[in-house]
Amino acid sequence: MKISEEKKLEDLESFVISSKMTALAKENAKNNIFLDAGRGNPNWINKKARLAFNRLVEFGIIESERTINKGDMAGYTEQHGMRQRFEAFLRPEEYKIDDFWLDILDYIRDDLKLNQDEVIKEFVDGAIGNNYPMPARVLKNTGKIINQYLQTTLYNGVDLKDETDVFATEGGTAAIVYIFNTLRENKLINYGDKIAINTPIFTPYIEIPTLNDYQMVEVDLNSDASNHWEIAPGEIDKLLDPSIKLFVVVNPSNPGSKAFSKKDLAEIKEVIKKRPDLMIVTDDVYGTFVENFQTLYSVVPDNTLLVYSFSKLFGATGWRLGLVAAHEENVFDRLISQLPNKDKQELNKRYGSVEFEPSKMKFIDRLVADSRSISLYHTAGLSTPQQIMEDLFSLTHLVNRNKTDKYIETSKNIVGKRYTDLHDSLNYPKDESNDNSKYYSIIDIYTIAERKYGKEFRSFLENNFEQLDFLINLAQKNGVVLMDGVGFGTHPGCLRVSQANLPTEDYRLIGNQMMQLLADYHKQFIEHKVKIKNK
Ligand SMILES: *Cc1c(COP(=O)(O)O)cnc(C)c1O
Repeated sequence: MKISEEKKLEDLESFVISSKMTALAKENAKNNIFLDAGRGNPNWINKKARLAFNRLVEFGIIESERTINKGDMAGYTEQHGMRQRFEAFLRPEEYKIDDFWLDILDYIRDDLKLNQDEVIKEFVDGAIGNNYPMPARVLKNTGKIINQYLQTTLYNGVDLKDETDVFATEGGTAAIVYIFNTLRENKLINYGDKIAINTPIFTPYIEIPTLNDYQMVEVDLNSDASNHWEIAPGEIDKLLDPSIKLFVVVNPSNPGSKAFSKKDLAEIKEVIKKRPDLMIVTDDVYGTFVENFQTLYSVVPDNTLLVYSFSKLFGATGWRLGLVAAHEENVFDRLISQLPNKDKQELNKRYGSVEFEPSKMKFIDRLVADSRSISLYHTAGLSTPQQIMEDLFSLTHLVNRNKTDKYIETSKNIVGKRYTDLHDSLNYPKDESNDNSKYYSIIDIYTIAERKYGKEFRSFLENNFEQLDFLINLAQKNGVVLMDGVGFGTHPGCLRVSQANLPTEDYRLIGNQMMQLLADYHKQFIEHKVKIKNK
């Protein structure tokens, strides 16, 4: 590839560069197998919830036939006696998955203390998809199940499940888009406002705020290799600047993969005492990959919107399953109530067509209404089959009660093993602390170059090649796709490796290919030195 082309690529978004690399790598010069460790899409899936969903659809059809049964047409379901009929339908001796359903029934009655008929009816209709999602934000019992899941996996013992409102969304992706949009519509963020982000971070959080729609000014709270990708000392104090309106974190981070330590959480809590109006968004998609994880939401609930996605843990990126959670009492509602009268009038007009008392409409309900441009609020909400899938994924964890969740343990072990193999094959230092989710690694190619071949070679690499040269050659020659770290906010030379999306045995190969390519560069370096000497 020409240098001018390499330079042009640098302007593209990291995920776009990665798909271009994929095309190059498939036809790599060495005819190596194509290894794409760029994207974070896991190569595992959760079977249990999917099989359970199937049984629900089968039962739902039989139930629907009770009211109309003409050829391919069936009718509506009836709640009365549904639990009994469902229990009669289950045959654990024939279908192993029905044991999970029996566990779910017990859990709903004994632990959640919900009405079983009502929950089964919600599940059945939801899976069949015979009604608009109502309430649009989240179905009644689904909200309770999701709340219980969030509390058990992310709050580390803090009890907030009965004080938390959930909005089920089309993946974490939609949650992020909706949040920025509604913050702007409600004038909680304005052009020129400052947003603090903990870099490196999932690229959209860097890119969205600077779009023309938002025009925000970014303040970096940096984490880097010298501090094991934990937030650097003193950085949290930047949040004391009152001109910073919003603080966005991915925790555990992507791509740094580290979770905030207890000390970091305590420091942020102190900051909030001095800055009660600071708005926070925490994206905890990787929370379950860390031992004893604690979300920022459980530390400063009134200030924080929680984003979660089922995509990664459950291998469900195609389902589009995510959510936003907010505390009943929160700074977002408070700031809206304190807006100048003129702004409040404008907003009352905006939401007045869907609410009798628009001034009392909660921020989270505004999110739902805005997600469908207000006028389609009555048909808003995540599709009901998707909501039921969120229930079933949540329940795979919840029915373990206090026992360890073997599925979650397996997911941690898988990324852990791949992390070890990759680092060992690169002879790269490992971070074995509990706060490391190991879902991604950031590998600094210049550091490896220096360790293996010395300082002079490192400078040669830094000074003679474009930032993307190594990445492009790795794809073009060796068939390995990684992601450039710079788009996430790392130094040049840092590459993101996803430990999620390739078979475990491939991670050693990736390390070996990277070392081979580095050896090729080193050959060039020696030739370059000989040339200079002979001049
Ligand atoms: C993957 C990812 C998402 C996207 O989640 P989806 O539910 O697949 O849309 C959001 N945030 C972070 C940090 C992610 O890594």
